[in-house]
Amino acid sequence: AYIVAEPCVDVLDRACVEECPVDCIYQGERMAYIQPDECVDCGACEPVCPVGAIYFEEDLPEEWSSFTRINADFFATA
Ligand code: SF4
Repeated sequence: AYIVAEPCVDVLDRACVEECPVDCIYQGERMAYIQPDECVDCGACEPVCPVGAIYFEEDLPEEWSSFTRINADFFATA
């Protein structure tokens, strides 16, 4: 899946939300989140992000590795 990382926090541009063909990008209070089970790895969202916050999970910079979990946890039912 693709992952939304730190640069999105408090930016929430939402260009990615418009671009996603399967509508799997959801808006939280401070950032957007990609539902990993719904993402089809099309890559359409990555280039439209104005702050470069979206990465394919294997290309996610080490400093933001925690965001894989952060994206998935947003969709976990408590
Ligand atoms: Fe949506 Fe494609 Fe981005 Fe996955 S990679 S979140 S399916 S636009």
